[in-house]
Amino acid sequence: MVDNQLRARGIKDENVLQAMAKVPRHLFVPSTMIDFAYSDEPLPIGEGQTISQPYIVAYMTENIHPQKWKRALEIGTGSGYQTAILAELVKEVYTVELIPSLAEKAQEILAKLGYQNIHYRVGDGTQGWPEEAPFDAILVTAAPAKIPFALEDQLAEKGRMIIPVGEMFQDLYLVLRQKNKIIRKKLIPVRFVPLVSLH
Ligand code: SAH
Repeated sequence: MVDNQLRARGIKDENVLQAMAKVPRHLFVPSTMIDFAYSDEPLPIGEGQTISQPYIVAYMTENIHPQKWKRALEIGTGSGYQTAILAELVKEVYTVELIPSLAEKAQEILAKLGYQNIHYRVGDGTQGWPEEAPFDAILVTAAPAKIPFALEDQLAEKGRMIIPVGEMFQDLYLVLRQKNKIIRKKLIPVRFVPLVSLH
């Protein structure tokens, strides 16, 4: 997976590649999907949600420039796979999931794997996690129609957010805060489940 799907397609950050080699992806997919755990595609994880394709996980992670001193916010815990990759690479991970059963399952696996730098919240991630803001990195794994203001607001100076945006057709955006200005860059077309907005 690491050589054929990630390195070959241009993922360069050795720390990201190492984390992707280390985290056991098969533990995060349903038992019926275990044979496909390392294949080049997204997979269903129940409740109509999906675990992203390995390349997209690596691409998004590389783009937030993970470093050991950073604090990261993830919106859409889902299976917890992306959460584990982040937990390998940054100091603290704050992760928000709307669906309680998915949050519970993810938390159980991540605890079993021994991660102690992950903080969980069940609720609406469009509001971010104001009590713990600002974040050096924000990674959103479900697509809103437009970028939620609260998330841009909770980005630290020099912070980086990666977020899919759109309805039928979506693009991945990189959002930067530099000298208190917000810069938005369109990266690649993607397909994510919708970010449900309760507000
Ligand atoms: N990162 C996940 C991908 C999960 S798919 C993984 O690696 O498995 C996206 C997730 O976002 C789903 O679990 C969905 O329930 C969740 N989600 C959708 N809207 C949300 C919201 N408003 N707040 C928090 N989570 C949300």
